[in-house]
Amino acid sequence: MKNTNGNTEQYRQWAPYVLIAALLLLTYLTFQYSAPPEPSYEIPYSQFKDLANKGRVESLQLQGDVASGTLKSTEALGPHGEIAQRFSTRLPAFGDESLLPLIESQAIELKVSGEAGKSGPLAILLSLLPWLFLLLFFFWVFQRTSRALGGRLGGPEELKKFLEAPAQNAEQPEVTFADVAGQENAKREVTELVEFLKQPENFHKLGAEIPHGVLLMGAPGTGKTLLARALAGEAGVPFFSISGSQFIEVFVGVGAARVRNLFDAAKKNAPSIVFVDELDSIGRTRGTGLGGGHDEREQTLNQILAEMDGFSGHEAVIVLAATNRPDVLDPALLRPGRFDRHVVLDLPDRKDRVAILKVHTRKMPLGERVDLDRIAAGSPGFSGADIKNLANEAAILAARKKRSEVLMQDFEEARDKVLLGTVRTLAIQPEEHHRLAVHEAGHTLVAWFLPNADPLYKVTIIPRGRALGGTQQLPEEERHTLSEEYLRDRLVVILGGRSAEKELLKTLSSGAEDDIHQATTLSRAMVARWGMSEEIGPVDLRESEEHPFLGREIAQPRHYSEHSAEVVDHAVQTLLQEAEERALAVIREHPDALTRLISALEEQETLHREQIEQCLGAAPRNRTLPSASN
Ligand code: ADP
Ligand code: MG
Ligand code: ZN
Repeated sequence: MKNTNGNTEQYRQWAPYVLIAALLLLTYLTFQYSAPPEPSYEIPYSQFKDLANKGRVESLQLQGDVASGTLKSTEALGPHGEIAQRFSTRLPAFGDESLLPLIESQAIELKVSGEAGKSGPLAILLSLLPWLFLLLFFFWVFQRTSRALGGRLGGPEELKKFLEAPAQNAEQPEVTFADVAGQENAKREVTELVEFLKQPENFHKLGAEIPHGVLLMGAPGTGKTLLARALAGEAGVPFFSISGSQFIEVFVGVGAARVRNLFDAAKKNAPSIVFVDELDSIGRTRGTGLGGGHDEREQTLNQILAEMDGFSGHEAVIVLAATNRPDVLDPALLRPGRFDRHVVLDLPDRKDRVAILKVHTRKMPLGERVDLDRIAAGSPGFSGADIKNLANEAAILAARKKRSEVLMQDFEEARDKVLLGTVRTLAIQPEEHHRLAVHEAGHTLVAWFLPNADPLYKVTIIPRGRALGGTQQLPEEERHTLSEEYLRDRLVVILGGRSAEKELLKTLSSGAEDDIHQATTLSRAMVARWGMSEEIGPVDLRESEEHPFLGREIAQPRHYSEHSAEVVDHAVQTLLQEAEERALAVIREHPDALTRLISALEEQETLHREQIEQCLGAAPRNRTLPSASN
């Protein structure tokens, strides 16, 4: 199989050269045979007769109705009086009975059949040769094209080869989890898959079903591709990968066929991993129809879904997909049995950045004063890819300066380069770092001291998703209805970040935009839907309604008076202002605790519950807290 393929491949490689050589030879031959050794002119029959009568013709050659010959000496034969010895002439259609006697009387040498090469079977072959080659050439081009286009005329292997081409064939990655620094959560989640890939029988025997679809979500450069490859490397199974963006340029139907082939190959080589990178580029919500012409994408997506649905539960094939836009994915992709297991990769915090730096400086000779911890401290918001980039830049700078070691100053210079140079990176500028810490500390402090707010379990100034920083609260229990006290405290927590900025920095930033939006939406719902305002009472004054099928708010004609609208606006404002005042009051009440929290955040970037407690003291309430494992 491999061998025959190799031969066709060789034949295809050589074919054009052979063809060119043949054509050159042919041109040469044609030239050799048809080019007259001396110039020859066609002359009128009357002129020929005249020359023959004067005894000047040496020899004559008859070929059909053409006579060509040589004179005994040169004459002016050309139309412009050119001198030549050879001529040709056309015999009259009605024949000329006096020609033969003339030839005899003048003793002209007569050849009737001419030179053997000129009119024999070889001549016929030679005249046909160009056509033969042309035909062969067309046939060859046609075959190639038809193969490339789906091969109804080419063999099935040809088609397969074309479809598989961009999908790398099975690969056996060398990387392992040791090459993925940090990302402990994500690694823990995929570790159990390693066991399964190594010994699928053990799981099947017990009837355990292993998830087939795992979606890796995270900002660009957080190591999604790396983790997928490391999983294959760790388990020692083949890795079949394909990238969503490859499907956009190919013709309709090819994407689906490629997916089918990829899955077939993966099943044949099970246990194995299929990796679909950039899933969002094909997996966007279908039927949005903007721009039209998403046929190819849709077909490809449908094929992926069909393949995943087609698993009987026994194939030891795990499908990993990566995306940095989980929000735009088609919900069909996330249904049970598809990509129902989600693994989030966060941007690294300071500790993880040190670990990533260690991985990427492993092979570099480092100067004595190089302090990886300080480099990590100076690169908040850098992704794993940014850090790799930074280490590489530093080594390049050192090499350019012809040093034998990479020094601290190289890292510093490289950091500025990465920080300024890349637009897409989420890296945080130094002055922003402090503001973020103040903002997040504000949320945290307020949540800590308010009686009805959700308890805190983590706060970070590392960007997550769209929001910079984040304060994560964990609801104590599943809440189905929300009490007014809880909601009022929630408003205070939401505005706590902005209030801290206002109080400590005396200026505001655009960073609180999301908070303000969230607070406004919440307070409007409290006033207009839940009747939580004295001024208005229990009246439904919603401006919009949730569409039962679209699941979205759509604008509705208003069912209430201008006056009511004003009252709602006023009540919302009052709620928000009250909330802000309460936030400011909490902040002013605990200035030292807040300062401690801010510097701890600036220092460590991510604080877990115990660390928060160290800064703020025990929470003022006795709450049952979830074990702070996160
Ligand atoms: P993504 O697929 O999430 O965009 P990649 O996996 O392509 O990110 O990461 C790009 C490169 O950045 C990787 O090849 C690796 O060298 C480096 N990198 C990213 N995250 C890490 C990490 N956690 N540990 C070590 N290197 C990392
Ligand atoms: Mg990637
Ligand atoms: Zn905020």
